[in-house]
Amino acid sequence: MALIQTFIALLGDSAVLRSQQDLAGHVTDWRGRYQGQAQCVLFPSTTAQVAEVVRICHAAQVPVVAQGGNTSLCEGAIPRADLPETVVINLGRMRQVRAVDPANNSMVVDAGCVLQTVQETARSHGRLYPVSLGAEGSCQIGGNIATNAGGTGVLRYGNTRENVLGLEVVLPDGRIWEGLYGLRKNNTGFDLKHLFIGSEGTLGIITGATLKLHPLPTARAMAWLAVESPQAAIAMLARFQSRCSASLSAFEMLNDVQLNIVLGHVADRRAPLSPSYPWHVLVELTDTCDEALLSAALEETLSAAAEEGLLLDAAIATNGKQQADWWEVRHSVSEGNKKAGIGINTDPAVPLSAIPAFITQATAAAHGIVPGAPIIIVAHLGDGNVHFIPQMQFAQWQALSPAEQDQLSHRVKQAVNEVACALAGTFSAEHGIGQVLTDEMALFKPAVELDLMQTIKRAIDPQQRFNPGRLLPPAP
Ligand code: FAD
Repeated sequence: MALIQTFIALLGDSAVLRSQQDLAGHVTDWRGRYQGQAQCVLFPSTTAQVAEVVRICHAAQVPVVAQGGNTSLCEGAIPRADLPETVVINLGRMRQVRAVDPANNSMVVDAGCVLQTVQETARSHGRLYPVSLGAEGSCQIGGNIATNAGGTGVLRYGNTRENVLGLEVVLPDGRIWEGLYGLRKNNTGFDLKHLFIGSEGTLGIITGATLKLHPLPTARAMAWLAVESPQAAIAMLARFQSRCSASLSAFEMLNDVQLNIVLGHVADRRAPLSPSYPWHVLVELTDTCDEALLSAALEETLSAAAEEGLLLDAAIATNGKQQADWWEVRHSVSEGNKKAGIGINTDPAVPLSAIPAFITQATAAAHGIVPGAPIIIVAHLGDGNVHFIPQMQFAQWQALSPAEQDQLSHRVKQAVNEVACALAGTFSAEHGIGQVLTDEMALFKPAVELDLMQTIKRAIDPQQRFNPGRLLPPAP
Protein backbone atom coordinates (compact mmCIF):
# COMPACT_ATOMS: atom_id res chain seq x y z
CA MET A 1 0.00 0.00 0.00
CA ALA A 2 2.85 2.38 0.88
CA LEU A 3 4.33 1.78 -2.57
CA ILE A 4 1.05 2.66 -4.26
CA GLN A 5 0.77 5.89 -2.26
CA THR A 6 4.28 6.79 -3.39
CA PHE A 7 3.29 6.21 -7.01
CA ILE A 8 0.12 8.31 -6.60
CA ALA A 9 2.17 11.16 -5.11
CA LEU A 10 4.58 10.96 -8.05
CA LEU A 11 2.21 10.40 -11.00
CA GLY A 12 -1.24 11.50 -9.81
CA ASP A 13 -4.22 9.31 -8.94
CA SER A 14 -5.46 8.71 -12.49
CA ALA A 15 -2.07 7.34 -13.55
CA VAL A 16 -2.15 4.52 -11.00
CA LEU A 17 -4.66 1.75 -11.76
CA ARG A 18 -5.16 -0.67 -8.92
CA SER A 19 -8.74 -2.08 -8.83
CA GLN A 20 -9.16 -5.59 -10.23
CA GLN A 21 -11.61 -4.20 -12.76
CA ASP A 22 -9.14 -1.56 -14.01
CA LEU A 23 -6.27 -4.03 -14.10
CA ALA A 24 -8.16 -6.69 -16.08
CA GLY A 25 -7.29 -5.44 -19.57
CA HIS A 26 -3.61 -5.11 -18.62
CA VAL A 27 -3.11 -8.52 -17.04
CA THR A 28 -4.90 -10.52 -19.77
CA ASP A 29 -3.22 -11.26 -23.08
CA TRP A 30 -4.61 -10.15 -26.46
CA ARG A 31 -6.20 -13.53 -27.19
CA GLY A 32 -7.78 -13.64 -23.74
CA ARG A 33 -6.18 -17.00 -22.94
CA TYR A 34 -3.74 -16.12 -20.15
CA GLN A 35 -4.17 -14.05 -17.04
CA GLY A 36 -1.49 -12.69 -14.74
CA GLN A 37 -1.52 -10.57 -11.59
CA ALA A 38 -0.12 -7.16 -10.67
CA GLN A 39 -0.41 -4.78 -7.74
CA CYS A 40 -0.88 -1.80 -10.08
CA VAL A 41 -0.51 -0.50 -13.62
CA LEU A 42 1.27 2.85 -13.89
CA PHE A 43 1.01 5.43 -16.67
CA PRO A 44 4.01 7.77 -16.45
CA SER A 45 4.04 10.78 -18.79
CA THR A 46 7.77 11.48 -19.05
CA THR A 47 11.07 9.65 -19.18
CA ALA A 48 11.99 11.22 -15.83
CA GLN A 49 8.85 9.73 -14.27
CA VAL A 50 9.63 6.29 -15.72
CA ALA A 51 13.14 6.52 -14.26
CA GLU A 52 11.80 7.55 -10.85
CA VAL A 53 9.24 4.72 -10.82
CA VAL A 54 11.96 2.23 -11.77
CA ARG A 55 14.26 3.53 -9.00
CA ILE A 56 11.42 3.05 -6.50
CA CYS A 57 10.73 -0.50 -7.76
CA HIS A 58 14.47 -1.26 -7.66
CA ALA A 59 14.70 -0.16 -4.02
CA ALA A 60 11.53 -2.10 -3.13
CA GLN A 61 12.78 -5.14 -5.09
CA VAL A 62 9.51 -5.66 -6.95
CA PRO A 63 9.25 -7.12 -10.47
CA VAL A 64 8.61 -4.69 -13.33
CA VAL A 65 6.82 -5.41 -16.60
CA ALA A 66 6.96 -2.86 -19.42
CA GLN A 67 3.76 -2.74 -21.42
CA GLY A 68 2.80 -1.09 -24.70
CA GLY A 69 -0.43 -1.86 -26.55
CA ASN A 70 -0.55 -5.39 -25.06
CA THR A 71 -0.91 -6.94 -28.51
CA SER A 72 1.89 -9.46 -27.98
CA LEU A 73 1.00 -12.82 -29.49
CA CYS A 74 3.27 -14.71 -27.09
CA GLU A 75 1.88 -13.38 -23.80
CA GLY A 76 4.99 -11.24 -23.27
CA ALA A 77 3.38 -8.06 -21.97
CA ILE A 78 1.33 -9.43 -19.10
CA PRO A 79 2.68 -10.05 -15.60
CA ARG A 80 3.12 -13.53 -14.21
CA ALA A 81 0.27 -15.11 -12.25
CA ASP A 82 2.63 -16.12 -9.42
CA LEU A 83 4.10 -12.65 -8.82
CA PRO A 84 1.16 -10.47 -7.66
CA GLU A 85 3.54 -7.78 -6.37
CA THR A 86 4.54 -6.93 -9.98
CA VAL A 87 4.33 -3.31 -11.13
CA VAL A 88 3.27 -2.88 -14.77
CA ILE A 89 4.56 0.28 -16.46
CA ASN A 90 2.43 1.15 -19.46
CA LEU A 91 3.86 3.74 -21.89
CA GLY A 92 0.43 4.76 -23.24
CA ARG A 93 0.66 8.35 -21.94
CA MET A 94 4.04 8.94 -23.57
CA ARG A 95 2.86 9.56 -27.12
CA GLN A 96 4.53 12.75 -28.30
CA VAL A 97 6.23 12.97 -31.67
CA ARG A 98 9.28 14.84 -30.41
CA ALA A 99 10.79 15.90 -33.75
CA VAL A 100 10.69 15.14 -37.47
CA ASP A 101 13.81 15.79 -39.58
CA PRO A 102 12.82 15.21 -43.23
CA ALA A 103 16.30 16.17 -44.49
CA ASN A 104 17.84 13.49 -42.27
CA ASN A 105 14.98 11.08 -43.05
CA SER A 106 14.40 10.51 -39.35
CA MET A 107 11.95 11.21 -36.56
CA VAL A 108 12.19 11.08 -32.77
CA VAL A 109 9.17 9.75 -30.91
CA ASP A 110 8.06 8.78 -27.43
CA ALA A 111 7.93 5.00 -27.05
CA GLY A 112 4.18 5.10 -26.36
CA CYS A 113 3.35 6.46 -29.84
CA VAL A 114 0.95 4.13 -31.59
CA LEU A 115 2.48 2.67 -34.77
CA GLN A 116 -0.28 4.12 -36.95
CA THR A 117 0.40 7.62 -35.57
CA VAL A 118 4.05 7.21 -36.48
CA GLN A 119 3.14 6.09 -40.01
CA GLU A 120 0.69 8.99 -40.45
CA THR A 121 3.12 11.59 -39.10
CA ALA A 122 5.85 10.35 -41.44
CA ARG A 123 3.39 10.49 -44.35
CA SER A 124 2.38 14.06 -43.50
CA HIS A 125 6.07 14.98 -44.02
CA GLY A 126 6.24 13.13 -47.34
CA ARG A 127 8.10 10.18 -45.81
CA LEU A 128 7.39 6.50 -45.12
CA TYR A 129 7.82 4.64 -41.86
CA PRO A 130 7.60 1.16 -43.37
CA VAL A 131 6.79 -1.19 -40.47
CA SER A 132 3.19 -2.33 -40.96
CA LEU A 133 1.17 -5.02 -39.19
CA GLY A 134 -2.38 -5.97 -38.27
CA ALA A 135 -2.17 -4.42 -34.80
CA GLU A 136 -0.85 -1.07 -36.04
CA GLY A 137 -3.87 0.85 -34.69
CA SER A 138 -3.05 -0.19 -31.12
CA CYS A 139 0.53 -1.45 -30.77
CA GLN A 140 3.15 1.06 -29.67
CA ILE A 141 6.51 1.81 -31.21
CA GLY A 142 8.21 0.79 -27.93
CA GLY A 143 6.49 -2.61 -28.13
CA ASN A 144 7.49 -2.98 -31.79
CA ILE A 145 11.10 -2.24 -30.88
CA ALA A 146 11.08 -4.48 -27.80
CA THR A 147 9.83 -7.38 -29.96
CA ASN A 148 11.70 -6.40 -33.15
CA ALA A 149 8.35 -6.65 -34.91
CA GLY A 150 8.26 -7.75 -38.54
CA GLY A 151 5.00 -7.48 -40.49
CA THR A 152 4.33 -7.07 -44.17
CA GLY A 153 7.09 -4.61 -45.13
CA VAL A 154 10.12 -6.70 -44.17
CA LEU A 155 10.85 -7.97 -47.68
CA ARG A 156 11.72 -4.44 -48.83
CA TYR A 157 12.55 -2.48 -45.66
CA GLY A 158 13.66 -5.02 -43.05
CA ASN A 159 12.39 -5.67 -39.52
CA THR A 160 11.93 -2.95 -36.91
CA ARG A 161 15.64 -3.42 -36.08
CA GLU A 162 16.59 -2.06 -39.52
CA ASN A 163 14.41 1.01 -38.99
CA VAL A 164 15.73 2.22 -35.64
CA LEU A 165 18.65 4.67 -35.49
CA GLY A 166 18.74 5.40 -31.77
CA LEU A 167 17.06 4.71 -28.44
CA GLU A 168 16.43 6.23 -25.05
CA VAL A 169 16.17 3.57 -22.36
CA VAL A 170 15.57 3.51 -18.61
CA LEU A 171 17.79 0.81 -17.14
CA PRO A 172 16.71 -1.51 -14.30
CA ASP A 173 18.56 0.64 -11.72
CA GLY A 174 16.79 3.80 -12.90
CA ARG A 175 19.64 5.31 -14.94
CA ILE A 176 18.70 6.75 -18.33
CA TRP A 177 20.71 5.81 -21.43
CA GLU A 178 20.36 8.74 -23.83
CA GLY A 179 21.17 7.10 -27.14
CA LEU A 180 18.82 8.96 -29.47
CA TYR A 181 21.38 9.18 -32.27
CA GLY A 182 20.11 10.00 -35.74
CA LEU A 183 23.18 8.66 -37.54
CA ARG A 184 23.63 6.07 -40.29
CA LYS A 185 27.26 5.67 -39.34
CA ASN A 186 28.62 5.53 -35.80
CA ASN A 187 31.45 3.07 -35.31
CA THR A 188 32.25 3.86 -31.71
CA GLY A 189 32.22 0.42 -30.17
CA PHE A 190 29.28 -1.85 -29.35
CA ASP A 191 26.04 -0.67 -30.97
CA LEU A 192 24.02 -0.84 -27.77
CA LYS A 193 20.62 -0.17 -29.33
CA HIS A 194 20.71 -3.67 -30.78
CA LEU A 195 20.82 -5.14 -27.26
CA PHE A 196 17.49 -3.54 -26.44
CA ILE A 197 15.80 -4.19 -29.78
CA GLY A 198 14.12 -7.57 -29.36
CA SER A 199 14.88 -7.75 -25.63
CA GLU A 200 11.16 -7.86 -24.74
CA GLY A 201 11.41 -5.64 -21.67
CA THR A 202 14.03 -7.82 -19.97
CA LEU A 203 16.88 -5.27 -20.08
CA GLY A 204 15.21 -1.88 -19.74
CA ILE A 205 12.23 0.28 -20.61
CA ILE A 206 12.44 1.99 -23.98
CA THR A 207 11.10 5.53 -23.55
CA GLY A 208 12.07 7.13 -26.86
CA ALA A 209 13.35 6.19 -30.30
CA THR A 210 14.89 7.77 -33.37
CA LEU A 211 13.32 6.08 -36.39
CA LYS A 212 14.59 5.80 -39.94
CA LEU A 213 12.28 7.21 -42.62
CA HIS A 214 12.16 6.38 -46.33
CA PRO A 215 10.90 8.14 -49.45
CA LEU A 216 7.11 7.97 -49.64
CA PRO A 217 6.06 5.81 -52.61
CA THR A 218 3.85 7.66 -55.05
CA ALA A 219 2.95 4.68 -57.22
CA ARG A 220 1.44 1.36 -56.22
CA ALA A 221 0.34 -1.73 -58.13
CA MET A 222 -1.18 -4.80 -56.57
CA ALA A 223 -2.35 -8.24 -57.64
CA TRP A 224 -4.13 -11.13 -55.95
CA LEU A 225 -2.98 -14.50 -57.29
CA ALA A 226 -4.32 -18.02 -56.96
CA VAL A 227 -1.70 -20.78 -57.26
CA GLU A 228 -1.69 -24.55 -56.97
CA SER A 229 0.98 -24.93 -54.29
CA PRO A 230 3.58 -23.19 -52.11
CA GLN A 231 6.16 -24.26 -54.74
CA ALA A 232 4.26 -22.27 -57.37
CA ALA A 233 4.09 -19.27 -55.01
CA ILE A 234 7.87 -19.43 -54.48
CA ALA A 235 8.39 -19.63 -58.24
CA MET A 236 6.20 -16.52 -58.64
CA LEU A 237 8.26 -14.72 -55.99
CA ALA A 238 11.42 -15.50 -57.98
CA ARG A 239 9.79 -14.08 -61.15
CA PHE A 240 8.89 -10.85 -59.33
CA GLN A 241 12.32 -10.58 -57.74
CA SER A 242 14.10 -10.87 -61.07
CA ARG A 243 11.67 -8.60 -62.99
CA CYS A 244 11.01 -5.85 -60.40
CA SER A 245 12.93 -6.52 -57.19
CA ALA A 246 13.55 -2.85 -56.33
CA SER A 247 9.79 -2.19 -56.32
CA LEU A 248 8.63 -5.43 -54.70
CA SER A 249 7.26 -4.36 -51.32
CA ALA A 250 5.12 -7.30 -50.20
CA PHE A 251 4.58 -10.93 -51.06
CA GLU A 252 2.11 -12.55 -48.67
CA MET A 253 0.64 -16.04 -48.97
CA LEU A 254 -2.42 -17.60 -47.33
CA ASN A 255 -4.09 -20.96 -47.74
CA ASP A 256 -7.79 -21.52 -48.39
CA VAL A 257 -8.41 -22.36 -44.71
CA GLN A 258 -7.08 -18.97 -43.62
CA LEU A 259 -8.90 -17.02 -46.32
CA ASN A 260 -12.24 -18.69 -45.57
CA ILE A 261 -11.85 -17.87 -41.87
CA VAL A 262 -11.34 -14.16 -42.60
CA LEU A 263 -14.29 -14.07 -45.02
CA GLY A 264 -16.51 -15.98 -42.59
CA HIS A 265 -15.62 -14.20 -39.34
CA VAL A 266 -14.63 -10.60 -40.07
CA ALA A 267 -17.32 -8.25 -41.32
CA ASP A 268 -17.06 -6.66 -44.78
CA ARG A 269 -14.07 -8.64 -46.00
CA ARG A 270 -14.16 -9.79 -49.62
CA ALA A 271 -11.57 -11.65 -51.66
CA PRO A 272 -11.12 -10.85 -55.34
CA LEU A 273 -10.81 -14.53 -56.32
CA SER A 274 -12.74 -17.62 -55.33
CA PRO A 275 -11.71 -18.76 -51.82
CA SER A 276 -11.86 -22.34 -53.04
CA TYR A 277 -8.46 -21.98 -54.75
CA PRO A 278 -5.94 -23.76 -52.48
CA TRP A 279 -3.28 -21.00 -52.15
CA HIS A 280 -3.53 -17.23 -52.45
CA VAL A 281 -0.83 -14.57 -52.81
CA LEU A 282 -1.04 -10.82 -52.32
CA VAL A 283 1.76 -9.11 -54.23
CA GLU A 284 2.48 -5.40 -54.06
CA LEU A 285 4.86 -3.16 -55.98
CA THR A 286 5.51 0.39 -54.77
CA ASP A 287 7.88 3.08 -55.98
CA THR A 288 8.35 6.77 -56.62
CA CYS A 289 8.12 6.34 -60.40
CA ASP A 290 5.21 6.76 -62.79
CA GLU A 291 2.36 4.39 -61.83
CA ALA A 292 2.05 3.19 -65.44
CA LEU A 293 5.57 1.75 -65.23
CA LEU A 294 4.69 -0.31 -62.16
CA SER A 295 1.42 -1.53 -63.66
CA ALA A 296 3.26 -2.58 -66.81
CA ALA A 297 5.89 -4.50 -64.80
CA LEU A 298 3.13 -6.24 -62.84
CA GLU A 299 1.15 -7.18 -65.94
CA GLU A 300 4.21 -8.40 -67.86
CA THR A 301 5.33 -10.60 -64.96
CA LEU A 302 1.85 -12.06 -64.60
CA SER A 303 1.39 -12.81 -68.29
CA ALA A 304 4.80 -14.51 -68.48
CA ALA A 305 3.90 -16.58 -65.41
CA ALA A 306 0.50 -17.47 -66.87
CA GLU A 307 2.19 -18.70 -70.05
CA GLU A 308 4.47 -20.88 -67.93
CA GLY A 309 1.38 -22.33 -66.23
CA LEU A 310 2.31 -20.97 -62.78
CA LEU A 311 -1.03 -19.26 -62.13
CA LEU A 312 -4.51 -20.66 -61.55
CA ASP A 313 -6.02 -17.18 -61.63
CA ALA A 314 -5.11 -13.53 -60.99
CA ALA A 315 -6.79 -10.19 -60.31
CA ILE A 316 -5.17 -6.76 -60.53
CA ALA A 317 -6.43 -3.99 -58.25
CA THR A 318 -7.81 -1.16 -60.34
CA ASN A 319 -7.90 1.60 -57.72
CA GLY A 320 -6.69 2.63 -54.27
CA LYS A 321 -9.89 1.53 -52.54
CA GLN A 322 -9.48 -2.00 -53.88
CA GLN A 323 -5.84 -2.07 -52.79
CA ALA A 324 -6.84 -0.98 -49.27
CA ASP A 325 -9.65 -3.58 -49.15
CA TRP A 326 -7.27 -6.39 -50.10
CA TRP A 327 -4.81 -5.29 -47.44
CA GLU A 328 -7.70 -5.33 -44.95
CA VAL A 329 -8.26 -9.01 -45.78
CA ARG A 330 -4.59 -9.77 -45.10
CA HIS A 331 -4.45 -7.68 -41.93
CA SER A 332 -7.59 -9.37 -40.53
CA VAL A 333 -6.13 -12.85 -40.15
CA SER A 334 -5.38 -12.64 -36.40
CA GLU A 335 -8.82 -11.17 -35.67
CA GLY A 336 -10.52 -13.87 -37.76
CA ASN A 337 -8.53 -16.69 -36.19
CA LYS A 338 -9.34 -15.43 -32.69
CA LYS A 339 -13.07 -15.61 -33.49
CA ALA A 340 -13.01 -18.89 -35.42
CA GLY A 341 -11.57 -21.26 -32.85
CA ILE A 342 -8.44 -21.97 -30.86
CA GLY A 343 -5.40 -21.67 -33.07
CA ILE A 344 -2.19 -23.26 -31.82
CA ASN A 345 -0.02 -20.49 -33.19
CA THR A 346 3.51 -20.91 -34.39
CA ASP A 347 5.84 -18.37 -35.97
CA PRO A 348 8.76 -20.21 -37.60
CA ALA A 349 10.96 -19.15 -40.48
CA VAL A 350 12.93 -21.44 -42.75
CA PRO A 351 15.03 -20.82 -45.86
CA LEU A 352 12.69 -20.14 -48.78
CA SER A 353 13.83 -23.31 -50.51
CA ALA A 354 12.71 -25.35 -47.48
CA ILE A 355 9.16 -23.94 -47.21
CA PRO A 356 7.38 -26.76 -49.13
CA ALA A 357 9.19 -29.41 -47.06
CA PHE A 358 8.41 -27.50 -43.88
CA ILE A 359 4.68 -27.36 -44.65
CA THR A 360 4.51 -31.06 -45.52
CA GLN A 361 6.54 -32.22 -42.52
CA ALA A 362 4.95 -29.85 -40.02
CA THR A 363 1.47 -30.95 -41.15
CA ALA A 364 2.42 -34.59 -40.56
CA ALA A 365 3.93 -33.72 -37.15
CA ALA A 366 0.86 -31.73 -36.05
CA HIS A 367 -1.57 -34.37 -37.29
CA GLY A 368 0.35 -36.97 -35.31
CA ILE A 369 -0.90 -35.11 -32.21
CA VAL A 370 -4.21 -33.56 -33.35
CA PRO A 371 -5.39 -35.85 -36.17
CA GLY A 372 -7.31 -34.10 -38.91
CA ALA A 373 -7.08 -30.60 -37.37
CA PRO A 374 -7.48 -27.90 -40.04
CA ILE A 375 -4.14 -26.20 -40.66
CA ILE A 376 -4.26 -22.43 -41.08
CA ILE A 377 -1.30 -21.08 -43.02
CA VAL A 378 -0.47 -17.41 -43.49
CA ALA A 379 3.05 -16.54 -44.54
CA HIS A 380 5.23 -13.53 -45.09
CA LEU A 381 6.53 -15.69 -47.92
CA GLY A 382 9.30 -13.37 -49.07
CA ASP A 383 10.81 -13.58 -45.56
CA GLY A 384 10.48 -17.38 -45.24
CA ASN A 385 8.18 -16.74 -42.27
CA VAL A 386 5.26 -19.20 -42.15
CA HIS A 387 2.59 -18.85 -39.46
CA PHE A 388 1.54 -22.49 -39.23
CA ILE A 389 -1.57 -22.77 -37.05
CA PRO A 390 -3.33 -26.08 -36.32
CA GLN A 391 -6.86 -25.14 -35.31
CA MET A 392 -9.10 -26.66 -32.62
CA GLN A 393 -12.85 -26.11 -32.32
CA PHE A 394 -13.90 -24.16 -29.18
CA ALA A 395 -15.89 -27.17 -27.86
CA GLN A 396 -12.96 -29.56 -28.42
CA TRP A 397 -10.69 -27.18 -26.52
CA GLN A 398 -13.08 -26.55 -23.66
CA ALA A 399 -13.45 -30.28 -23.11
CA LEU A 400 -9.80 -30.27 -21.98
CA SER A 401 -8.64 -29.17 -18.53
CA PRO A 402 -6.36 -26.07 -18.45
CA ALA A 403 -3.38 -28.37 -17.80
CA GLU A 404 -4.31 -30.57 -20.76
CA GLN A 405 -4.73 -27.49 -22.98
CA ASP A 406 -1.28 -26.29 -22.00
CA GLN A 407 0.26 -29.66 -22.58
CA LEU A 408 -1.39 -30.13 -25.99
CA SER A 409 -0.44 -26.67 -27.14
CA HIS A 410 3.19 -27.20 -26.02
CA ARG A 411 3.44 -30.58 -27.76
CA VAL A 412 2.07 -29.27 -31.05
CA LYS A 413 4.28 -26.16 -31.00
CA GLN A 414 7.39 -28.10 -30.16
CA ALA A 415 6.70 -30.69 -32.89
CA VAL A 416 6.26 -27.92 -35.49
CA ASN A 417 9.28 -25.96 -34.23
CA GLU A 418 11.42 -29.07 -34.28
CA VAL A 419 10.63 -29.46 -37.99
CA ALA A 420 11.58 -25.80 -38.61
CA CYS A 421 14.86 -26.08 -36.68
CA ALA A 422 15.78 -29.34 -38.45
CA LEU A 423 15.39 -27.44 -41.75
CA ALA A 424 17.87 -24.76 -40.60
CA GLY A 425 15.06 -22.46 -39.50
CA THR A 426 13.98 -20.68 -36.33
CA PHE A 427 11.06 -21.17 -33.93
CA SER A 428 10.35 -17.44 -33.62
CA ALA A 429 10.66 -15.26 -36.69
CA GLU A 430 8.87 -12.09 -35.57
CA HIS A 431 6.56 -12.44 -32.54
CA GLY A 432 9.35 -13.01 -30.03
CA ILE A 433 9.52 -15.45 -27.13
CA GLY A 434 7.36 -14.00 -24.35
CA GLN A 435 6.36 -16.72 -21.92
CA VAL A 436 5.24 -19.29 -24.47
CA LEU A 437 8.56 -20.16 -26.11
CA THR A 438 11.05 -20.19 -23.22
CA ASP A 439 11.15 -24.02 -23.40
CA GLU A 440 12.08 -23.74 -27.08
CA MET A 441 14.89 -21.35 -26.13
CA ALA A 442 16.30 -24.02 -23.82
CA LEU A 443 15.77 -26.77 -26.41
CA PHE A 444 16.91 -25.20 -29.65
CA LYS A 445 19.29 -22.30 -28.89
CA PRO A 446 22.98 -23.16 -28.91
CA ALA A 447 24.34 -23.29 -25.33
CA VAL A 448 26.94 -20.58 -25.97
CA GLU A 449 24.29 -18.19 -27.32
CA LEU A 450 22.08 -18.77 -24.30
CA ASP A 451 25.02 -18.34 -21.94
CA LEU A 452 25.93 -14.99 -23.54
CA MET A 453 22.33 -13.83 -23.22
CA GLN A 454 22.17 -14.85 -19.54
CA THR A 455 25.49 -13.04 -18.91
CA ILE A 456 24.16 -9.82 -20.48
CA LYS A 457 20.93 -10.13 -18.48
CA ARG A 458 22.84 -10.55 -15.21
CA ALA A 459 25.08 -7.56 -16.02
CA ILE A 460 22.21 -5.18 -16.78
CA ASP A 461 19.53 -6.54 -14.45
CA PRO A 462 21.38 -8.29 -11.61
CA GLN A 463 18.20 -8.49 -9.50
CA GLN A 464 16.47 -10.25 -12.44
CA ARG A 465 13.31 -8.23 -11.86
CA PHE A 466 12.66 -6.90 -15.38
CA ASN A 467 10.00 -9.03 -17.05
CA PRO A 468 11.02 -12.12 -15.07
CA GLY A 469 10.41 -15.51 -16.66
CA ARG A 470 10.08 -14.02 -20.14
CA LEU A 471 12.36 -14.55 -23.13
CA LEU A 472 15.08 -16.43 -21.22
CA PRO A 473 14.64 -19.90 -19.72
CA PRO A 474 15.70 -20.25 -16.08
CA ALA A 475 19.50 -20.26 -15.81
CA PRO A 476 20.86 -23.79 -15.33
P1 FAD B 1 3.20 -5.28 -25.95
O1 FAD B 1 2.38 -6.42 -26.41
O2 FAD B 1 2.61 -4.40 -24.92
O3 FAD B 1 4.61 -5.82 -25.42
C1 FAD B 1 5.34 -6.76 -26.14
C2 FAD B 1 6.68 -7.00 -25.43
O4 FAD B 1 7.45 -5.82 -25.46
C3 FAD B 1 6.56 -7.36 -23.96
O5 FAD B 1 7.60 -8.21 -23.61
C4 FAD B 1 6.72 -6.03 -23.24
O6 FAD B 1 7.24 -6.19 -21.93
C5 FAD B 1 7.72 -5.34 -24.14
N1 FAD B 1 7.56 -3.89 -24.19
C6 FAD B 1 6.47 -3.18 -24.59
N2 FAD B 1 6.74 -1.87 -24.56
C7 FAD B 1 8.01 -1.74 -24.13
C8 FAD B 1 8.86 -0.64 -23.88
N3 FAD B 1 8.47 0.61 -24.07
N4 FAD B 1 10.12 -0.89 -23.42
C9 FAD B 1 10.55 -2.16 -23.21
N5 FAD B 1 9.79 -3.23 -23.43
C10 FAD B 1 8.53 -3.03 -23.88
N6 FAD B 1 4.02 -9.01 -34.88
C11 FAD B 1 4.84 -9.03 -35.93
O7 FAD B 1 6.05 -9.04 -35.75
N7 FAD B 1 4.33 -9.07 -37.20
C12 FAD B 1 3.01 -9.06 -37.46
O8 FAD B 1 2.60 -9.10 -38.63
C13 FAD B 1 2.13 -8.98 -36.36
N8 FAD B 1 0.81 -8.90 -36.56
C14 FAD B 1 -0.01 -8.81 -35.49
C15 FAD B 1 -1.39 -8.69 -35.73
C16 FAD B 1 -2.26 -8.59 -34.67
C17 FAD B 1 -3.74 -8.44 -34.94
C18 FAD B 1 -1.77 -8.63 -33.34
C19 FAD B 1 -2.69 -8.54 -32.17
C20 FAD B 1 -0.41 -8.74 -33.10
C21 FAD B 1 0.49 -8.84 -34.16
N9 FAD B 1 1.86 -8.94 -33.96
C22 FAD B 1 2.69 -8.98 -35.05
C23 FAD B 1 2.46 -9.04 -32.62
C24 FAD B 1 3.40 -7.88 -32.34
O9 FAD B 1 4.52 -8.26 -31.55
C25 FAD B 1 2.75 -6.72 -31.70
O10 FAD B 1 1.62 -6.31 -32.37
C26 FAD B 1 3.64 -5.48 -31.43
O11 FAD B 1 4.92 -5.45 -31.97
C27 FAD B 1 3.75 -5.38 -29.95
O12 FAD B 1 3.58 -4.03 -29.59
P2 FAD B 1 2.80 -3.65 -28.26
O13 FAD B 1 2.96 -2.19 -28.07
O14 FAD B 1 1.44 -4.16 -28.25
O15 FAD B 1 3.70 -4.42 -27.18
